Amino acid sequence: MFAESTRHIESYYASHYAESGALPERPALAGDHHADVLVVGAGFSGLHTALRLALAGRRVALVEASRVAWAASGRNGGQALLGWSCDMPPFEQALGLAGARELWDSMRWAAAEVRALPARHGFDIDYRPGSLWAAVRRSRVAMLEAARDEAAQKWGYERLRFIPESEMPEWIGSRRYRAALYDPEAGHLDPLKLALGLADAIERAGGAIFEQSRVLAYRETPSGYVASTREGTVRAGALVLACNAYIDRLDSDLAGRVLPVGTWQVATRRLDPALARSLLPRNSCVIDNQFVPDYFRLSPDDRLLFGGACTYLGGIPKDIGAAIRPNLERAFPPLRGVEFDYAWGGHIDISIRRTPDVGHERDRYWLQGFSGHGVLPTLAAARAVADAILGEPRLLSLYERMHNPRFPGGERFAAPLEALGKLWYRLRDVV
Ligand SMILES: Cc1cc2nc3c(=O)[nH]c(=O)nc-3n(C[C@H](O)[C@H](O)[C@H](O)COP(=O)(O)OP(=O)(O)OC[C@H]3O[C@@H](n4cnc5c(N)ncnc54)[C@H](O)[C@@H]3O)c2cc1C
Repeated sequence: MFAESTRHIESYYASHYAESGALPERPALAGDHHADVLVVGAGFSGLHTALRLALAGRRVALVEASRVAWAASGRNGGQALLGWSCDMPPFEQALGLAGARELWDSMRWAAAEVRALPARHGFDIDYRPGSLWAAVRRSRVAMLEAARDEAAQKWGYERLRFIPESEMPEWIGSRRYRAALYDPEAGHLDPLKLALGLADAIERAGGAIFEQSRVLAYRETPSGYVASTREGTVRAGALVLACNAYIDRLDSDLAGRVLPVGTWQVATRRLDPALARSLLPRNSCVIDNQFVPDYFRLSPDDRLLFGGACTYLGGIPKDIGAAIRPNLERAFPPLRGVEFDYAWGGHIDISIRRTPDVGHERDRYWLQGFSGHGVLPTLAAARAVADAILGEPRLLSLYERMHNPRFPGGERFAAPLEALGKLWYRLRDVV
């Protein structure tokens, strides 16, 4: 479903490098290579896994079809939110309270780790603390208070703060939002800076990264795996598949459990700093609690980055700006007619129950199914996979107790069914 690209798409994040010409390029795989672990896919899943393994002294080869973080990881909303797309009930059902609590604690670890990584490895990700989960409809305000209470009682997380309607102007300069939950351990960041910083750290720890090298096939051998690209092979004792929405024919079993879905966002022109501050006075990132949510935040140079919507049937709209403008102007009427300097889309990997699909079979590991919410979940899952490879399988075994069924009928039938489901939820957002 995708053709490798030699260039990053024209997103706001990539534009920093287009101007300075500083986007590093790495060689393509050529000839025969050996590694302890081969990681396929240089998004957050693959990068975090590779870094942890390289720091533990494993010889790691990371092979990427396009460029490091060319896909979702280099072009997302940058919201580092605690929790998973499916929320906690599927974990609680599968693992009981204690098991689900362990995974929740690993999510808090991921939130702290993403803040610590840049200083530890000497790069910057423009991290800003604080997220808001905001209610548009009065009928969904109670949901926020219930979530705060449940987080405290079940998961021991007492840091969520309820913001009542009377205080909302201090947080969001829009009358659309009735209340919110503030999370000080979440935040927002520049995802491409994070990915490129991780890639440098992997190389400094002795790992090898190859770009422009799509893995076309792999097979198991008595001593591990051998994977081939157009011009090279890697033999490795363990294989990690971190291909997200692009797994496709490389592994039809994994591909059957995720559906590639298009989603998109825009970056406005630079706003007057006072106007930008009036939109988000405390510089938190925001996601609403509609069934089909809008999400937004400010960039360090005073742009509004605004995303939302997705499509199961039609890929990514030709005119992304026109598709997203009504949502943005509904949230912030003073921005009516504002120019968009960048508009871009990407693909996420939806699993049928929105649960992460993280597991292993012999020495073949995989991480996928983040369902549109992956900045912190990929880091938590990468720790589970890397630790299992290093001999500590406890966290991975928790993920493996989740049931991730195949989409019935494959992509051909699943996409229309999902689209119908989404239409139903969209209707519930307006009636
Ligand atoms: C527009 C958009 C906004 C988003 N906003 C947010 C947000 O604000 N917060 C949040 O938490 N999440 C967000 N997400 C989701 C988040 O970005 C993803 O869940 C996360 O980046 C997934 O990381 P990944 O490494 O699993 O996959 P990816 O980043 O997609 O990386 C997979 C990589 O594997 C490579 N690959 C695939 N097949 C092969 C092969 N055969 N050989 C070699 N390489 C291969 C691909 O080229 C790709 O680079 C957003 C996603 C999008 C698209």
